[in-house]
Amino acid sequence: MAESLKVFHIEDHWMVTPDGKKLDPLARSSEVRTVFRRAGWIVHIAGNKCKGQVCVLPSVCTIVPYRETLPMESDRNMYSREYFFYYDNRNAGRYVHVIGAAYMTGSNGGKYGMSSESERYSYVFVKLHLDIGGADEDTKRSYIKATVIHELGHQFGLDDHPIDKTPKTRNGKLCVMYDGAPTALIDLEFCDECLKKIRNYKGW
Ligand SMILES: [Zn+2]
Ligand SMILES: [Zn+2]
Repeated sequence: MAESLKVFHIEDHWMVTPDGKKLDPLARSSEVRTVFRRAGWIVHIAGNKCKGQVCVLPSVCTIVPYRETLPMESDRNMYSREYFFYYDNRNAGRYVHVIGAAYMTGSNGGKYGMSSESERYSYVFVKLHLDIGGADEDTKRSYIKATVIHELGHQFGLDDHPIDKTPKTRNGKLCVMYDGAPTALIDLEFCDECLKKIRNYKGW
């Protein structure tokens, strides 16, 4: 019997810096679709359709106001909700809000991403990635993609792997749920254990 594939949706938003740089979380990249497809899930993004109907309206996936840091813990949920068009349908319709932001607490905050499974938001702190010294544009893009895949992993209940106990992927690199700063050793892929958890995820 053919494996049944489930669908989840990404509503993406991005900030633009005062000097015009788009802080794109790269949630629409093919690597994101490929890695979740392998775990039994189809990713729908802006313009895709469920049963003939556009399920992620391109007009709601837009720029959000720039701010250097996120609000404090107490009002962070409200901050995402304000822009999350599909918020009320996030569980029944399986929607995740992916936001390309600048920093969580500042350029020394050291947080590359953050997720809430109950609120269904995933932040990627793109400006922190762009700050990484000694990395070319392609490398930075790859790090941003690793972070968005990692944060989406949290939406499937995955925990971080401790830095010194991170399993390898089938490519012999570190599972993307590695709990540390981006490095070239991290794969844009999950380990077998994480793949199994995503495949069996019942939270939606
Ligand atoms: Zn859909
Ligand atoms: Zn893993």
